[in-house]
Amino acid sequence: MHELSIVMSIVDAAREQVEKHGAARVEAITLEVGTLAGIEPEALEFAWEAAVPDTVLDGAGRHIRYIQARAKCAGCGNEYDIQQLFEPCPLCGEYFSDLLQGKELRIKTMTLETE
Ligand SMILES: [Zn+2]
Repeated sequence: MHELSIVMSIVDAAREQVEKHGAARVEAITLEVGTLAGIEPEALEFAWEAAVPDTVLDGAGRHIRYIQARAKCAGCGNEYDIQQLFEPCPLCGEYFSDLLQGKELRIKTMTLETE
């Protein structure tokens, strides 16, 4: 389950920030996850429960912002939402497109607690 290694790398990044700022723990964290990032929300939840206890993220409020994947058609320039890769342009049927967003997996914001 790759969600577990993802959560562990988030924990590492959070610990780094806590140490850098001399904080005690993380109060809240917001993640941005693209709809094509390959993350199963339930698996992420499960991995979070498994990996987070006794880390700087233990008890932190967690917010996940999902980013709808969008592509730009290479044929006509139309921008459209996609549910999967290689979805044809709804206007001209072209299959070649640039992915504009949707593969994000990042920490957007983190609030540290200094006590
Ligand atoms: Zn098109």
